[in-house]
Amino acid sequence: MLGEILKRSVCAECRFCCSFRRVSLWEVPFVSEELFKKQPDKELFEKIEVRGAVCYRMILDNDYKTEDPGEEAPCFFLDPQRGCTLNDEDKPLDCKIWPLRIMETDKGGYVIALSPTCPAVNRVPLERVRRVAESIENEVRIYAKKHPYIIKKYIDGYPILTEFDEL
Ligand code: SF4
Ligand code: SF4
Repeated sequence: MLGEILKRSVCAECRFCCSFRRVSLWEVPFVSEELFKKQPDKELFEKIEVRGAVCYRMILDNDYKTEDPGEEAPCFFLDPQRGCTLNDEDKPLDCKIWPLRIMETDKGGYVIALSPTCPAVNRVPLERVRRVAESIENEVRIYAKKHPYIIKKYIDGYPILTEFDEL
């Protein structure tokens, strides 16, 4: 969805957003019921309820081998050579729109904001990123209404690209 500002070849060299430090476990995408049902190793996932919707959390917590806070545990769907192994239909929307995020503000409204951690998108002028956010806003809102677990709490400092009061 972000092909206009994010090249596959650049992501293939990076993979930063598919591995997680302990402090970043909140960033791990939740898995939909549909995708969970396709998994052979169901014990690797924990059923949870977020914002009233059932989803599944990848249990990466036990994958760290050291006490180093900089150690990263890869997403279960990451192949070191091929990248994400999910097809477009199964891939969580939050991965498709990363580093954009749908977030809820303290005032109860919603924003599409930019995570500041993607090196490639940080090189793109913010106004161009905003136009991309505007172009996908409707689709993101529809998806978030059905799968509200993709909504994160807004974090101060994340540039806000679009704002809306309701999903
Ligand atoms: S952090 Fe950005 S450049 Fe790196 S893989 Fe993710 S989207 Fe691509
Ligand atoms: S589901 Fe795919 S794109 Fe999303 S974090 Fe995992 S490997 Fe990366």
